[in-house]
Amino acid sequence: MPNPFPTLAPAPDAAGAAPVPAEFSANGILTVDLDAVVANWRLLAKEAVPAETAAVVKADAYGCGLEPVTRALTGAGCKTFFVATIDEARHARAAAPHADIYALDGYFTGCGAMFAAHNIRPVIGDLAELADWESFCRGHGWNGGAAIHVDTGMNRLGMGLGDALALAGRVKAGHHGFTLVMSHFACAETPGHPLNARQLALFREIASVFSGVPASLANSSGIFLGGTVLFDLVRPGAALYGVNPTPEAENPMRPVVDLKARIVQLRTVERGDSVGYGATWTARRPTRLAIVAAGYADGYFRAAGGVDGVRSAEAIVAGVRCPIAGRISMDLMAIDITDAPPGVRRGQFATLIGEGIGVDELANYFGTIGYEVLTSLGPRYHRVYRGGA
Ligand SMILES: *Cc1c(COP(=O)(O)O)cnc(C)c1O
Repeated sequence: MPNPFPTLAPAPDAAGAAPVPAEFSANGILTVDLDAVVANWRLLAKEAVPAETAAVVKADAYGCGLEPVTRALTGAGCKTFFVATIDEARHARAAAPHADIYALDGYFTGCGAMFAAHNIRPVIGDLAELADWESFCRGHGWNGGAAIHVDTGMNRLGMGLGDALALAGRVKAGHHGFTLVMSHFACAETPGHPLNARQLALFREIASVFSGVPASLANSSGIFLGGTVLFDLVRPGAALYGVNPTPEAENPMRPVVDLKARIVQLRTVERGDSVGYGATWTARRPTRLAIVAAGYADGYFRAAGGVDGVRSAEAIVAGVRCPIAGRISMDLMAIDITDAPPGVRRGQFATLIGEGIGVDELANYFGTIGYEVLTSLGPRYHRVYRGGA
C-alpha cells in the first residue's frame, strides 16, 4: 500500500541519531482538517441567517483542539465562543483576543478575578449565582456581561421559568448586564419530538420578557429544525466537527477527523484459531492479521471488537475495508486483512477514521454517539492540523 504520509520516511536508526520527530515515532496520527471545520461553520451560518452563528469549543473542541479550532474560526469571522469551564475559556481567549467568550458552567464564588482578567462571561443559571456574580461585579467595578440560562425542559442547567420572569423588571429598567438569554434543546436531533415544540413555546415567552437581550436556543441539530428556533444566535458544536446533526437524513457536514494507526505486526493464523482475549473470534479460513497500535486506552471502544457471528467495526488497510478480529485490547487491535491486497508491511498505517469511515459509523459500533467518539480520541495520538490559515 502506498504510504499515506509520503513525507514520513521510516524512522532513522536510533543509535546516535537526533531525536525522532513524533510523526515518525507515533503509533497513531490524528489529522484535524481545520478547513473542513471552517466550511462546516460557514454552512451552518448560511443555514442560520439572519441569526449569528457562534461556535461551541468545549472539551478541547470536541477533541479536535480548542486553540487551533478557535483560531481558525476566528479567522473565518466567528465572534462568539462557548466553553464549559473557566480554564477552557482562558485557552479560548488566547486564540480569540476580541471574541465574546461564554463559560457554560457559570460563576463560582472566588473566580471573579479570572472572569474579569480574561474578559469571560459566565452563563448563569440560578438567582443565587447571579447575586454572587453581581456582588463581584459591584465590588470590582466590572461590567463585562453575563448570559442568563433558562431551563425549558432539559432539567440540566438553567433557572426555572419563575425565576427568569422575576428578572423582567430589571430587564425593563435597562441596567442589567445581561448580554444573552439562552436555553438548550433536549431532543433537537429528533425533529418530531413533542418536547421541541414545548421548549420553543416556553423560550419564546422568555425571549419576549428579555426583550432587547439577544436570545439563543439552537445547538447543531436545532439549526435544522427551521427558522422559528434560530432567534439571534445559534450555538453549534458537534456539527462543526463532522457529526451528523440530522441523523434521520444524509450528513450535510464535511468530515473533520482522520485517524491512522500503525501496523506493528503481521501474522497468519489457521482456520479454527482464535484471536485475542477471551478467544471470542475464530478464523473461518486461513487468515492474515494486522495488529494495529490503537486500543481502548486510545478511545477505540472495546464494544467494537469482533465476536463470532457479530458484525464488527472496520478499518481500512490498503484501500480495503477490513473487519476487526477479536476483542479490542488496551493498546492494540487485530484486523483481518485477508481480503486486502498483498504487500501490506509492518510500519504502515491502517485508517480507523476517514476514507469513508465517519465518526457516526464508528459510534454505532461503539454503542454511543459521534460526540463521545470525538471526545474520547486518545492523548497518545500525534495531532496534525491541516489548513485553517
Ligand atoms: C454542548 C452545548 C451546545 C452544543 O451542542 P451540539 O449538539 O454539540 O451542537 C450548545 N449549547 C449548550 C448549552 C451546550 O451545552
